[in-house]
Amino acid sequence: MTVSPHTPFTATVLGLPRVGPNRELKRATESYWSGEVDAGQLHAVARDLRAAQYAQLLAAGLDSVPVGTFSYYDQMLDAAALLGALPERVAHITDPLDRYFTAARGDDTVEPLEMTKWFDTNYHYLVPEIGPHTVFSLHPANLLEQVAEARALDVPARPVVIGPVTFLKLAKAEDGAPLDRLAELVPLYRELLRLLAAAGVSWVQLDEPVLVTDLTAEEIELTRGVYTELSESADRPALLVATYFGTPGAALPALAATGVEGIALDACGDLSVVAGVPALAKKLLVAGVVDGRNVWRTDLDHALTILATLLGSAASIAVSSSCSLLHVPYTLAAETQLDPALRSWLAFGAEKLAEIRLLATAMTSGTEAIAAELARARAAAQSRRADPRLSDEQVRARLRALGPDAITRAPADQRRVLQAERLRLPILPTTTIGSYPQTPAIRLARAALRKGEIDEAEYDSRMRAEIAEVIALQENLGIDVLVHGEPERNDMVQYFAEQLDGFATIEQGWVQSYGTRCVRPPILFGDVTRRAPMTVDWITYAQGLTDKPVKGMLTGPVTILAWSFVRDDQPLADSAAQVALAIRDETVDLQNAGIRVIQVDEPALRELLPLRAADQPAYLDWSVRAFRLATCGVSDSTQIHTHLCYSEFGEVIDAIAGLDADVTSIEAARSHMEVLDDLDAAGFRLGVGPGVYDIHSPRVPSVEEITAALRAALKAVPAERLWVNPDCGLKTRGPAEVEASLRNMVTAAHTLR
Ligand code: GLN
Ligand code: ZN
Repeated sequence: MTVSPHTPFTATVLGLPRVGPNRELKRATESYWSGEVDAGQLHAVARDLRAAQYAQLLAAGLDSVPVGTFSYYDQMLDAAALLGALPERVAHITDPLDRYFTAARGDDTVEPLEMTKWFDTNYHYLVPEIGPHTVFSLHPANLLEQVAEARALDVPARPVVIGPVTFLKLAKAEDGAPLDRLAELVPLYRELLRLLAAAGVSWVQLDEPVLVTDLTAEEIELTRGVYTELSESADRPALLVATYFGTPGAALPALAATGVEGIALDACGDLSVVAGVPALAKKLLVAGVVDGRNVWRTDLDHALTILATLLGSAASIAVSSSCSLLHVPYTLAAETQLDPALRSWLAFGAEKLAEIRLLATAMTSGTEAIAAELARARAAAQSRRADPRLSDEQVRARLRALGPDAITRAPADQRRVLQAERLRLPILPTTTIGSYPQTPAIRLARAALRKGEIDEAEYDSRMRAEIAEVIALQENLGIDVLVHGEPERNDMVQYFAEQLDGFATIEQGWVQSYGTRCVRPPILFGDVTRRAPMTVDWITYAQGLTDKPVKGMLTGPVTILAWSFVRDDQPLADSAAQVALAIRDETVDLQNAGIRVIQVDEPALRELLPLRAADQPAYLDWSVRAFRLATCGVSDSTQIHTHLCYSEFGEVIDAIAGLDADVTSIEAARSHMEVLDDLDAAGFRLGVGPGVYDIHSPRVPSVEEITAALRAALKAVPAERLWVNPDCGLKTRGPAEVEASLRNMVTAAHTLR
């Protein structure tokens, strides 16, 4: 075995954002898809973005720079392409870039890869499919090109590749467990290491975030085996195995027992495991003391204390981000509207680079070398602690005063009777999930308002016209419980964040959610209060147009937190309770304004579930409480609905029943209603609306198809509890297909009645 000459580095990040500070890559990619630019132009945009980023990293003083975390779509898809594991159904596409994009997005004839959440972040990756036909083979050209490009720019390049254990654990296998295929991957990784050594690389990073999740003893043993083999490869660079999104448990000593030269740890969480791993003493420990996935300025004093503790456990220490900077916006500099105090408490990507450099300097030259910056950081922390917006005694007192009755309603059976009397709905009532198509007219109106071309009054009247149309459409279709269509909402979280004290919204801070889709998560920085009713005018306007019940439509506390950057100075459960209280006030106002049905959406309930089983019960407890706090303030005759965007409930199935919503709509069209049996087995006895058709495709479902879905549902749910609805909101669909689909849905319900 020969390891390339390497010295420990001192300052780095684990990975980088790639959409571009102004979403340049998004625009170029979408133009490529629509044929406006060719592959050469797309590659040029990507190259320029990387070059600018490398220059920034060098200027920031990093002495090791991740290369290859750039991606045209997703890093797991890149790994699949690297390892020859793209699905067979795209193999006929000869152009590699088009093959890659088709695997990601599908086309008229090809189903895309499934997409799912990257650990507990809001990033979504594409799930590699490993089948009997998968014959792994190495395709390193793209990575080698990026390495050559970086080296030509004098960048101390550290190529980053998803590690074999994580790659397979996150893949899905048609047959057996994907990890069974580990032995086939090892020779490919060995060959890749050889090629990278030959390209002059001294360190390679293999990402193994899966090591922070619950692994079986056998999986840990496999991990040890793989890294033992890889570290015994001939002619390789030094190996850094990166773990993040938590600290590994028993996987850490196993990994440390192998010959890898470096291990990256998320140092923002619990590090107690480190002390028990003497084998770390021979390694470079890359300490992620700067939070890579939240936006708060680092407490430099605290970080230095952590670094000092780790110093004794490792041969050397490098300062780093806790995970890739993919999960935070590029730079605070782009935000012009932020409150100055709040700004001083924050660090986005660029500011985190500066913090890393400072901490590394303190490590090598002592804290005096950064005395001025330390003082500034302390002052910012002090101003944050002292800011009155962080502690609203009124809200806190209200929460303290709440007794157990604040989160309980009368038994479901009693509520059912009261609501039936009040609502007088037919059996198998029909409804929709909330949004109707966001038409170009709606988007234009919103843009015009933003640019000041129209005033609030004009905007309002345009939105009202949209609402009137949606109400008329639903009456015409014969739907039983109507919605206003949500035309006035840009986004189901930002819309509320803009109206709640304690939240700030950002302008330019785009973060990749998947592919070319980016989001700007609001920042929850203070105690939450509702300045005024947020939705009552819109909903009562809609209700005024019809005798049928119109559903009030709110986003639940867990989802609002899941899609925001959250406070790090208090438990999430406390923040959830405050948001819940604001939503609760809104439900009461809606009810007092005559609204009889209120839906509180919690599509993200499962997303926030902690990665480790041991942490899950506490989360499920507070998240269910928060939902109940938000929804139990109304009278028993007000019907509470909730919507969850998925059907694989798994660990959260008991929590779904715990929400105690009168009606729960879920996705079920794609899983053929099997989920209903699971719900039944979990003792769920409330109303349920399993989506009877899939809104994720433009297809119009036939009456027969919907009838069949309903008949299947009736096998598991008695008719008195069954609702008829699509499986999600309709905002991404076209008006014509929506009308046709809903017409068929209503006909199917009528037929069965
Ligand atoms: N009420 C929202 C809508 O219909 C729910 C969206 C969601 O579940 N993500 O769009
Ligand atoms: Zn949904």
